[in-house]
Amino acid sequence: MFSKETIQKFQNTPTPFYYYDLGMLGGTLDALKKESVKYGYHVHYALKANANNEILSVIQQAGLGADCVSGNEVKKAGEHNFEKIFFAGVGKSDEEINTALDKNISCFNCESLQEIEVINELANKRNKIAPIAFRINPNVNANTHKYITTGLEENKFGINLWELEEVVKRTQQLKNIKITGIHFHIGSQITDLSAYKSLCLRANEIQSWFVSHKVPLEHINVGGGLGVDYHTPDKNLIPDFSSYFSLFNQFLELRPKQTLHFEIGRAIVAQCGSLISKVLFVKKGVSTNFVILDAGMTELIRPALYQSYHKIENISQIQYPTSNTQYLKYDVVGPICESSDCFGKAVMLPETKRGDLIAIRTTGAYGEVMSSQYNLREKAKAVYSV
Ligand SMILES: *Cc1c(COP(=O)(O)O)cnc(C)c1O
Repeated sequence: MFSKETIQKFQNTPTPFYYYDLGMLGGTLDALKKESVKYGYHVHYALKANANNEILSVIQQAGLGADCVSGNEVKKAGEHNFEKIFFAGVGKSDEEINTALDKNISCFNCESLQEIEVINELANKRNKIAPIAFRINPNVNANTHKYITTGLEENKFGINLWELEEVVKRTQQLKNIKITGIHFHIGSQITDLSAYKSLCLRANEIQSWFVSHKVPLEHINVGGGLGVDYHTPDKNLIPDFSSYFSLFNQFLELRPKQTLHFEIGRAIVAQCGSLISKVLFVKKGVSTNFVILDAGMTELIRPALYQSYHKIENISQIQYPTSNTQYLKYDVVGPICESSDCFGKAVMLPETKRGDLIAIRTTGAYGEVMSSQYNLREKAKAVYSV
């Protein structure tokens, strides 16, 4: 993954930092576009996965739309000239709604009647018609980690099926609202594509309901969530976009002129990023050895937050392993005063020394954007390759 030259460059760069391979990002976007244009599908990039300016520029140039979940993301997407901006989120503030109205975004993905009423009121004050889609909770299980499952009735997201009729009827009476579509998002890091088949079948039923109630829909938005290979990233640097889009083509019934939209975050940016860190100390424990890094949960919180797995490599030692390279078991931890500040337990690494560089792979999504300055640490830095 990392060339000798790259690793040499890392040695002269203050750690920790995020390393982004923009060439790899470009390759991923090429594959994504090749597979989505086959069916005329529209892909929006979910900015929340990574909102770095350099990364946003590459993605915008590839012609993707934007999917935002805050007013500042809407502003940022506007600054980067993204054309089609969607705004989702279960708790949009009045200020954020006004920002989106002023930017004339393409669609508000709405999660309750109360929210739609507020958008109507604010749009009325500005003499605008707000385009909205109903975010519907399809009650489909994404079979992913419980904190990133969003499409079940027990989750806080979306309008439930049993309240849909009431919500749609009341919305039709609002003068400053235009119903343009329906929206779903069932979760993240979905690797079992059958969850998307269930979503398609449910979406078809819901679509029939709208047809029978004579509510025309310009678009259907099936959200994002396509997973990536955290365990063997080098085998699957580019996600299987082909199977993903072809599944929707096979199972989702679009009406004439209706467009299908996707909001993909992780699958676009995860593999192009690595968190690069230096070993501060190697410490002997009772039953294990600890590798203590200069990066911690402040730079990458996913392992602490979702028990997520990231491949960890000692890139100082891994370059030219010989037959007598000794592999040892380590717990790889950060310097923060929290026991959950651990990147991996019982990780097999070549014998590791103070000063070695460690790469934590597949961290381009939900890594840097979730970083904090807890313990008054410096904000995570980023380094790019072309
Ligand atoms: C987070 C999110 C996405 C993107 O999810 P990924 O798993 O990164 O593809 C898309 N749509 C909505 C509404 C989201 O909240």
